[in-house]
Amino acid sequence: MNSHFDIVVVGAGPAGLHAARAAAREGASVALLDDNPRAGGQIWRQGPGHPPQAPLQALLATLGEQHRLTYWPSTRVVAPLDRPLDAPLASRGLLLESAERGGVSITYDRLILATGARELLLPFTGWTLPGVTGAGALQALIKGGMPVRGERVVIAGSGPLLIAALASAHAAGARVVAVVEQASALDVARFTASLLVEPAKLRQAIGMGLSSGLASWRYWTGSVVKAAYGNGRVEQVTIRRGERDVTLDCERVACGYGLVPNSTLAQALGCAIGDAGEIMVDDAQRTSVHSVLAAGECTGVGGAERAAVEGEIAGLVASGTRTDDAADGATGSAPGVLVARRARWRRFAHRVATAFALQEAARTPPDDATLLCRCEDVSLGEVRACRDGREAKLHTRCAMGACQGRICGAAASVYFGWPAATPRPPFSPAAIRTLMLVDDEASSD
Ligand SMILES: Cc1cc2nc3c(=O)[nH]c(=O)nc-3n(C[C@H](O)[C@H](O)[C@H](O)COP(=O)(O)OP(=O)(O)OC[C@H]3O[C@@H](n4cnc5c(N)ncnc54)[C@H](O)[C@@H]3O)c2cc1C
Repeated sequence: MNSHFDIVVVGAGPAGLHAARAAAREGASVALLDDNPRAGGQIWRQGPGHPPQAPLQALLATLGEQHRLTYWPSTRVVAPLDRPLDAPLASRGLLLESAERGGVSITYDRLILATGARELLLPFTGWTLPGVTGAGALQALIKGGMPVRGERVVIAGSGPLLIAALASAHAAGARVVAVVEQASALDVARFTASLLVEPAKLRQAIGMGLSSGLASWRYWTGSVVKAAYGNGRVEQVTIRRGERDVTLDCERVACGYGLVPNSTLAQALGCAIGDAGEIMVDDAQRTSVHSVLAAGECTGVGGAERAAVEGEIAGLVASGTRTDDAADGATGSAPGVLVARRARWRRFAHRVATAFALQEAARTPPDDATLLCRCEDVSLGEVRACRDGREAKLHTRCAMGACQGRICGAAASVYFGWPAATPRPPFSPAAIRTLMLVDDEASSD
């Protein structure tokens, strides 16, 4: 089965939803797909007891009115395809695996990547113990229905996501023992003061802190998780606070050092990627690859507001230029009001990045015995002995497991400065029947 769309949007978070809405309003035929069963991306993740939040509800209502929009939930992009032989001349293809439809190939004239970001997990002794997760991952698990009531939780790492995780854990009945931030007190204070120019963000931060019972948890700056211990699951965590170590009893440790752009598909398509792993885009959200645009945190971590406005611009540009390939580069300018809004949220993103840049303590690798690649049980010492990521892969199997280097590759970049390896499809485990579609397409002509 092959379906053709003017525009395919990958990712149904704030960026993808806004892109799809803008493009569909302009009259384009649009496919919006996401690997989650429900739309919303990370910030608006739905789950049992977590119905769509107001902004998501409003977006879904307007999307529901767009008759040229096709929404495919629980659908992953497995691989990019060269143009299938029966596809229109200018189009490209994607191989998908969908819970409802199985393996499917689709083609498009324009592709908008809105694939978001992932948490940066940096290993420490005991980080693979049950009960240790990322900070955003804890939130996602709670929204997915995991009970945490009465549990003592230590939230650690860096950035505003820690406060969002705190609010979710507190609301779910957990007792947050401490929030451990690697940035210095001065940097955090400067960042908080800078929020005066974005009062809504300041109110949001204060609101989350207050609603989480300020008196009941500690906020430690300039501190990192050194080790987690436990018999079968985490029972204690040791925090390095300057020159001294403090050990806390807990049932969970949620530790994430900010976010890294999810540019896997963009890399595979050959899009130019920046130093921080972000997809490089021009002012019209176009990537370096013809017909491929990108929006949201895959182009640089910057929050939902930035993602939304970038998505809107990408949707307008993609629909406005879809019949005018020859003019590509000259057309597709975005309305000034959106450009100004994007500039404002990019400035905010820059302030976040500066305040929560990883400090020496967080960048220092743990001891060599610590696992770096938990899928293939490869220690940090084994990887350290290699010259680069490719050698580590060939000699140790680091990054060859189920996560395909999404976790260990990002950590190796921080510790050793290695660039991310080019991903090879399939990007995630896929049914043989789905993969065979590639051959079927090629032989069907
Ligand atoms: C775990 C986590 C929790 C977060 N929680 C918060 C929070 O509580 N508050 C907050 O302000 N910010 C939070 N953030 C930050 C948040 O990512 C952004 O502010 C916002 O959601 C970014 O919007 P986006 O549209 O760019 O990406 P996302 O919202 O991340 O949406 C991208 C979507 O693309 C999908 N996708 C990616 N690759 C593929 C593929 N190959 N095939 C199909 N679908 C794909 C993803 O599953 C995801 O649904 C969180 C981030 C993470 C990683």
